[in-house]
Amino acid sequence: MIIPTLGCPGKCKYCWSSDENSPKMSLDTVRDIVEWLKPVEEEHVTFTFHGGEPLLAGASFYREALPMLSKELSHMHPEFAMQTNLWLMDDELAEILAEYQVPLGSSIDGPEDLTDYQRGDEYYTRCMEGYRIAVEHGLLVRFICTFTNSSVLRKEDIVEFFKSQGWVMKLHPALPSLKGDNPNAWTLSPEEYGELLVWLLDYAITHPNFEIMNVNDLCRCVFTRSGAVCTYADCMGSTFAIGPDGAIYPCYRFIGMPEWVMGYVQDKPSIANLMESPAGKRMTAFKEHVDSACRDCAHITYCRGGCPYNAIAPTGGELEGVDPHCTAYKRAFDEIVSRMEKEMEAPVLSAGPAARRSRVKRMEKPPVMPLIKRIIEK
Ligand code: SF4
Ligand code: SF4
Repeated sequence: MIIPTLGCPGKCKYCWSSDENSPKMSLDTVRDIVEWLKPVEEEHVTFTFHGGEPLLAGASFYREALPMLSKELSHMHPEFAMQTNLWLMDDELAEILAEYQVPLGSSIDGPEDLTDYQRGDEYYTRCMEGYRIAVEHGLLVRFICTFTNSSVLRKEDIVEFFKSQGWVMKLHPALPSLKGDNPNAWTLSPEEYGELLVWLLDYAITHPNFEIMNVNDLCRCVFTRSGAVCTYADCMGSTFAIGPDGAIYPCYRFIGMPEWVMGYVQDKPSIANLMESPAGKRMTAFKEHVDSACRDCAHITYCRGGCPYNAIAPTGGELEGVDPHCTAYKRAFDEIVSRMEKEMEAPVLSAGPAARRSRVKRMEKPPVMPLIKRIIEK
């Protein structure tokens, strides 16, 4: 992850990651990233530009940075992605990003009134204008929807909104933070999140033409027995984030916190050096903690204790437990596993239409195997 700045023109009410005094990354730092990674052999790398708001770096930054990373690190087959609120998208930026086929993730929380309530006046209009420009230039845009303890009460409206737009849905629960004065104001509780995931599972099953990425990821985890996204995998040592000044952190979520700096790209540290830093050791300690704290859990192989940042955020950075969303993950994984097991005993997929109808009727909940089959075929 490359974080060109922590600055952001938006004022989303539950965002703790922007800092208006943040510097911007210079092209010298991009050159340092290139020199740091040049000796790495044949590893595949994805550079995700994150923020703050990465478009604040401007067209001139991307016009130089993208070819530099792409050509000089060609042995790593670089791919790019960006997480942006799209407010600053214009034809010039869209053209450069399209040249490197940079898929964009943006954020919309549901219908306009709800999005603006959570993200501030005019957020929706400005984001949609950027979306229009991005799409005109052939860029792929997907939207993440943040569910808060307030918006979860309108989950039907939100899902119908995404469906009516023809968008794939990805969601994110509002989380506590290590920053800010009132970091829990919007937080979705683990119990609420678990209920929401199971509700969305049923929604995805009964609406085959509507895709919910988180549901797909949970099903993929269970079916393949390995973490499908970073939350359910050991991210330490395979994901790093580089701040505007070249400081290296375990993930974008730690950016700006000096105690989480693992090293600097200017010093060209090895991965081993980074993992030996106090921050690196704290990440490894999480992995070891999961091995013991989750050892009796049936889902440990494909959950891995959830996200380390989530785990330490509620305790001011101290490692006292696994990701508090454990309750939610367990609820969703249990639901998928138990339905799968029941359906394996009564194989809905291979039965004829009449038998299938009667078996489905006998099962209290919508069957999950047809959804898993769709995901695998994709
Ligand atoms: S569901 Fe909970 S107990 Fe099980 S592996 Fe995940 S975090 Fe650990
Ligand atoms: S700290 Fe959390 S969000 Fe960051 S890479 Fe790890 S699992 Fe993903």
